[in-house]
Amino acid sequence: MGKLNVTVLRYLTKEDFRVLTAIEMGMKNHELVPGPLAAAIANLKAGGVHKILKELCKHKLLSYERGKKYDGYRLTNTGYDYLALKSLTLRGSVSSFGNQIGIGKESNIYVVADEEGKPICLKLHRLGRTCFRNVKSKRDYHGRRHKASWLYLSRISATREFAYMTALYDRGFPVPKPIDFNRHCVLMELVNGWPMTQIHELRDPEQVYDDLMNLIVRLGNSGVIHGDFNEFNLMLADDGKPILIDFPQMMSTSHENAEFFFERDVNCVRELFRRKYNYESEDYPKFSDLKREDDLDTEVHCTGYGFTKEMEKDLLQEYGMIEESDEEEYEDDEDTVPKLVDGEKTGNNYTNDELDEYRQQLENEISFSEVKASSKADDS
Ligand code: ADP
Ligand code: MG
Repeated sequence: MGKLNVTVLRYLTKEDFRVLTAIEMGMKNHELVPGPLAAAIANLKAGGVHKILKELCKHKLLSYERGKKYDGYRLTNTGYDYLALKSLTLRGSVSSFGNQIGIGKESNIYVVADEEGKPICLKLHRLGRTCFRNVKSKRDYHGRRHKASWLYLSRISATREFAYMTALYDRGFPVPKPIDFNRHCVLMELVNGWPMTQIHELRDPEQVYDDLMNLIVRLGNSGVIHGDFNEFNLMLADDGKPILIDFPQMMSTSHENAEFFFERDVNCVRELFRRKYNYESEDYPKFSDLKREDDLDTEVHCTGYGFTKEMEKDLLQEYGMIEESDEEEYEDDEDTVPKLVDGEKTGNNYTNDELDEYRQQLENEISFSEVKASSKADDS
């Protein structure tokens, strides 16, 4: 575990950022983005895209690869980190970077500092990185096939985490205060306490057990299930009160698998207390006890974060919460060469409309980088 390598944040220019974002946009539909397409999306007034692409490869923010049918650029993990961290820095949410403090199942956790120098927690979501070549294909809104790539999955994971954390925090649940997010990165309050994995003895196990079960019920009555309620995702503050973390896999109590995951969360606590704290109780909540008092589950879908039911399905599949639907496997050689436009001239399948769309997305992404997520959510 080390530091984030952020030296590159200091000397890359606005144009570099724009070209990198252009590759990100191109990767929504193509595994590799050819140079001419990158140039067309980035649309730099002064040109010079190819020199910038070369520079970005040198810094390992991009890689240039040979595909089966065409060659092109791919955003690396580091490149994606750079885009998110640069955005968070530009809008003043982060001002310096510190050490890694944790590795989760699906993330890396760092301590960073805000503009006042206060330590806060940065979570980088890293999904789908292990089997990039085998992920199922998805159809985008044009019916084109594309990969449920690590870019897409990590991003919706972070978005979903931020949305749930915000809704929970606003209702007074014991969760870290959400601060901001961008792409696959979430900023939140640094919890002052210990993960329960590191706590081997409790002064009052009955009290903590009750607090945890009450928390599960309170979540349930608000319409949600945590879905991964285990000692890795529970911390105890100095006053002995639990704090819940790790939210991307949360689901609605109206979901068809809700009862299963509710019971699994409850059993997780029972099992932990039996095994580790030598405490057993016949008193534990049942799914049928829940009384709906709130609609936290539907609220997170309506708060302008832009995630859809389809995205939720893709993500819950990735977390192993729901079965994979049997969509066709993606096959590399079916990806057509994304040659550039003037349909007639080149006789290819890439239209000016689509290019306009990429460019529009690029402008949105770039202006978005400068706005804090908390103020965006307020606007909607
Ligand atoms: P994952 O989704 O990969 O499991 P988590 O959100 O559970 O990631 O975080 C992994 C670990 O990082 C936690 O077990 C905890 O030790 C630490 N951690 C996460 N968030 C915070 C936070 N806000 N404050 C302090 N430590 C944290
Ligand atoms: Mg976790």
